[in-house]
Amino acid sequence: MAPAEDWVVRTAGDVRAEGERRHPGEAPTCASGISPSGPVHLGNLRELMTPHFVADEVRKQAVPCRHILSWDDYDRLRRVPAGFPESFAEHIGRPLTAVPDPCGRHPNWAEHFKEPLRESLARLGVRLTEISQTQMYTSGAYTEQIIIAMRRRADIGAVLARYQTKRPGQASADPETDPDDDDPQNAGTRAYYPFKPYCAVCGRDDTTVTGFDDETTEITYACACGAQLGPVPIAEVAGKLVWKVDWPMRWAYERVTFEPAGVDHSSPGSSFTVGAALVSEIFGGEMPLHFGYSFVGTSGGSSKMSGSAGGAPTPADALEIFEAPLIRWLYARRRPEQSITLAFDAEVGRVYDEWDALSRKVAAGTAEPASVAVYGRAAGTAEGPLPVTPRPLPFRTLASVADITAGDQAQVLRILRDLTAEDPVVSLDEVRPRLDCAQAWVAGYMDPADRTRVRSEPDTARLAALSEEEGGALKLLTERMGDDWSLDGLTTLLYGVPKLLRGLPISAPPTPELKAAQRAWFILLYQLLIGKNTGPRLPTLLLALGQDRIRYLITPGLYRSVLYSALYSGAQQRGAPPEAGPRPGVPRLPPGPDDRYGLRPVQLIGGPLHHTERHGQPGRGLRPQRGVGGLSPQPAVSDGVQQGGHPGAHLTRGAHLSLVPGRGRQRGGLVTGPVAGEQRVEHTGQRRGVGRHRVLRT
Ligand SMILES: [Zn+2]
Ligand SMILES: [Zn+2]
Repeated sequence: MAPAEDWVVRTAGDVRAEGERRHPGEAPTCASGISPSGPVHLGNLRELMTPHFVADEVRKQAVPCRHILSWDDYDRLRRVPAGFPESFAEHIGRPLTAVPDPCGRHPNWAEHFKEPLRESLARLGVRLTEISQTQMYTSGAYTEQIIIAMRRRADIGAVLARYQTKRPGQASADPETDPDDDDPQNAGTRAYYPFKPYCAVCGRDDTTVTGFDDETTEITYACACGAQLGPVPIAEVAGKLVWKVDWPMRWAYERVTFEPAGVDHSSPGSSFTVGAALVSEIFGGEMPLHFGYSFVGTSGGSSKMSGSAGGAPTPADALEIFEAPLIRWLYARRRPEQSITLAFDAEVGRVYDEWDALSRKVAAGTAEPASVAVYGRAAGTAEGPLPVTPRPLPFRTLASVADITAGDQAQVLRILRDLTAEDPVVSLDEVRPRLDCAQAWVAGYMDPADRTRVRSEPDTARLAALSEEEGGALKLLTERMGDDWSLDGLTTLLYGVPKLLRGLPISAPPTPELKAAQRAWFILLYQLLIGKNTGPRLPTLLLALGQDRIRYLITPGLYRSVLYSALYSGAQQRGAPPEAGPRPGVPRLPPGPDDRYGLRPVQLIGGPLHHTERHGQPGRGLRPQRGVGGLSPQPAVSDGVQQGGHPGAHLTRGAHLSLVPGRGRQRGGLVTGPVAGEQRVEHTGQRRGVGRHRVLRT
């Protein structure tokens, strides 16, 4: 796409030239129009973004340019949108600004739908001037134009009739057109009036004009409610021009230089065609530059979308999951005649990847000129760049982390630190707002079948049925994953395990046989960890789970599930007695001496004990602690609050020490494997140094 074919640059040039020709010395005007009759969806956003890109391009050339948004808030309520109470049907026929607000926080129905779009436009960097048609009509700004239109109603009717008779069957081609708004049954006769009063009695527009005095400008009308009104000066009558007359009137009034519209508006007999005739013949203006833009579709969706209940997603919905520059990019990268599809499904990750790849290319100076131009339009406006995520980690990674952690912010930070070991993320602010987008996507749009549910207990049946190779692979992973606990280290190890098992170096090139072995190995891990054959990238998943949880889930026979349940069940966290009772003949222990964390002791069930444990503390490494004598064969409990040491933990070969940190949290804290002669305790979780030790026997 050479610059000459860049529609934004080309249109901006046309707008400047045409503006200068029509109104020398005046800023050209780009126009959008939106009816706030219901949720403003992503298709409507194209009505705003298309003139925005053009106006912004003009401004980037250091030339002032107006972008106006005409709110068609003086239109009648035509129907109650899906999802709103049928009681609003009472207001059908009244101006949108005269219909009550559905939520009670806004002045009226129209404002209810304007506010979210206004917020979205601000976030998208779209700067424009809002014009309320209610304000314009009720203030009398258009009175002169209304009188002109009424006096020339025969001419208007003739134009309407001309296009209608020429193109039978085209009358409903324009979806914005109200059937009773623009159905000029009497067009071409003196009985046609292009002005529709809102009844002074009932407020609806079920009215029929019965007369207009061209001299006095007095109007008479009747309403379906039975009211007969007038004659009264039209300047004092609430009402508006019918749409096909209203639009060209505004083109002239606002001196619109450029106004695109949905492709359906450009069809023969449409409001564009009729308006082109009326703006010059009746209102002494000129047709704006214009073209049709194509549709915006979406894929995927959610009941959480604000435009839901059968409706389409809104810009606010899109901003939940896309950074603002990405949305701008999705609109800017297509030519107007091309349709746009916004993904809300798993494609979101691919869209982010494409955007990131383009960002890198632009930064490196290797992007195509056309792509650079589109990127520039997306990343900022004439006023400057839009806010970005300081560290744009891949969206899929963030989504995986959000998925695995169920949004636990402390866990998210821990995992992201591990993921960025060479330059660790220090604060989640560095990865916002993209992290928030990923979390919103996981919560609202991710296919529930794709959600990751980490096993709460080992798959004992599968673990009992491991082949020799599978067992060896799991053992290798368990032994070596701590050597380089990073994304790269784990990636190398995961792919390397099948090689090591075959006596090959970890750097051995892949062969078809190795690839098959790797696939089978990955499936085994997914099965053992999350009970599915696929899932998030395995290195990310492992980092997210932490070494203790992984060991617990993939080591055959390491823990009896009953003990795990006792330690980790919600009942245990609430202080209820553990489900695991002592063996027959082993007395149940009284509660431990220190119950301030609301945990109950767990029985140690027999076995000889060692007398030394090594206890790791942050910054101090491992240091030995003396045991306090053998407890065997008595049941024993180690129950201290670990704060520089803890009392009486005695570990036996084959026993495991677990640290259960503070109240109500289930942060890792499990255990390392048995080591002859000593037991290494790993502190994980956020509250280092605070927790309880429990001695378990396997
Ligand atoms: Zn409201
Ligand atoms: Zn009435």
